[in-house]
Amino acid sequence: MSSRDGFDICVIGAGVIGLAIAYELAKKYKNQDVSIVILERESSFGQHVSSRNSEVIHAGIYYPTGSLKAELCVMGRELLYSHCEQFGVAHQKTGKLIVAKGTEAYALAKVKENAIANGVLDLQLLDRVELQKLEPNIEADMALHSPSTGIIDSHGYMQSLLRLAENLGVQFSPYSRVEKIDTDADAFVVHCQLDENRSPEHYEFNCQQLINAAGLEAQSIAQSVSAIPKNTIPKLHYCKGDYFDYRRRNPFSHLIYPMPEANTTGLGIHATMDMSSQLKFGPDTEYIEKVDFRIDGNKAKAFAENISSYFPGIDAGDLKPAYSGIRPKLSGPGEAAADFEIQEESVHGLSGLIQLFGMESPGLTASLAIARYISNRVDL
Ligand SMILES: Cc1cc2nc3c(=O)[nH]c(=O)nc-3n(C[C@H](O)[C@H](O)[C@H](O)COP(=O)(O)OP(=O)(O)OC[C@H]3O[C@@H](n4cnc5c(N)ncnc54)[C@H](O)[C@@H]3O)c2cc1C
Repeated sequence: MSSRDGFDICVIGAGVIGLAIAYELAKKYKNQDVSIVILERESSFGQHVSSRNSEVIHAGIYYPTGSLKAELCVMGRELLYSHCEQFGVAHQKTGKLIVAKGTEAYALAKVKENAIANGVLDLQLLDRVELQKLEPNIEADMALHSPSTGIIDSHGYMQSLLRLAENLGVQFSPYSRVEKIDTDADAFVVHCQLDENRSPEHYEFNCQQLINAAGLEAQSIAQSVSAIPKNTIPKLHYCKGDYFDYRRRNPFSHLIYPMPEANTTGLGIHATMDMSSQLKFGPDTEYIEKVDFRIDGNKAKAFAENISSYFPGIDAGDLKPAYSGIRPKLSGPGEAAADFEIQEESVHGLSGLIQLFGMESPGLTASLAIARYISNRVDL
C-alpha cells in the first residue's frame, strides 16, 4: 500500500470479477490521473470462488431471458473469447452436449427455446445416431449441441487481467483485509487490517468510488458500511459443489451435461475437463451453514449413480475427490433461482457505492461484461 491518503476508486476483492472491473475502469480512465486500488485480504488474487469452479465458458443457455445473468453471459462469452485470443490466455472451444432421454424431449426443446430467446442461436438438436457418432460412450436418446461452449485456464485469465490493470497504473494490495467502511461527507473511509507481519497493521484511506466485489464476503462487507440501510442487503446462502476427478483416460471430446436441476439450482453433475484434458465430474449442490471445503469421499457412490444415467461405463472406484466450491447464492433451498444483484445508489442511497451480490455461475464467463456494466455506472 502506498502512503498516499486516498484513491479515486477502490475495488474490494481480487477475484475474477474485481480484477475485470479494475481493468475496465483503468482503461476508461487511462491518462486521466485517476487512481485505482484493488484490496485483497489473501496473499494473491483468485484464491476463493474464482479458483473453485468448472472453468467453463458458458454459452448463456439456461438463464431467464432478460435477466442480468443471460445478458451478461452472452455478451461476456464473446468478450472473453476475444480477450483470450488477444492476450494468449489458454482456452478451448470444446463444445458441450446437453443429453436427454426420450421422456425429456419436451424439456430439452424448452431449453433450446430459452437459449434462442437469450440470443444463443447456434444450438443444434441431435438424435441418438448423431449423438453416438460424436460421443460413443454416452447413453442418451438425444442432445443439444452447443458449439460455443468452452473451457478456460481461469488462473491464466486472472493473471492477464491483473497484469493489464497494473500496466495501466492500478495498484494491487494483497494482505489487505477490509474491516469496515465509514461514510464521510463526500468520500468513503476504508479501514483495512494488513497482514500481521506488515507495518502498519491498520491502514485507512479515503476513496470516492467504492466497489464491493468480495464474493462470499460481499454481504459482510456491506454490513460494515456505516449509514447503509441494512434491509437492502440480500441474504446469502452457501451452496457447496463437490468435484471428483476421473481416474481413467477421458472418454469424451465434449463437455457433457445432463438436464439441469429444478430451479436450475445447479446444472447437474456434468463431465468437464481442464486444459490438460483431465476429466472431472461435478459439481453437486448442497446448501451448507458455514464455509467448509471438505469432500466426503463416500459421495463417490451417489455421484456414480447419478452419472450412470448418461455414462453407463462409470464406476464409483474411478472417482477421486478433487476440490469443492461454494456458490454465493441469493436463493435458498427450493426457491426460484435468483439473478445477479448489482446495487447502486438508487437501492441503498449512497452515492459512489456499487455492490455485487450473488455472483455465482456464470460469473467467470460474464466477468468482462459485468466489468463494462459497472464501468458504465461509474462517473467520477
Ligand atoms: C462450484 C462452482 C462452479 C462454477 N462454475 C462456473 C463456470 O463453469 N463458469 C462460470 O462462468 N462461472 C462459474 N462459477 C461462478 C464463478 O466462479 C464466480 O461467479 C466468480 O468466480 C466470482 O468471482 P468473484 O470475484 O465475485 O468472487 P471471488 O473469486 O470469491 O473473489 C472475491 C475476493 O474478495 C476477497 N475478499 C473477501 N473479503 C475481503 C475483505 N474483507 N477484504 C479484502 N478482500 C476480501 C476474497 O479473498 C476474494 O479473493 C462457478 C462457481 C462455483 C462455486
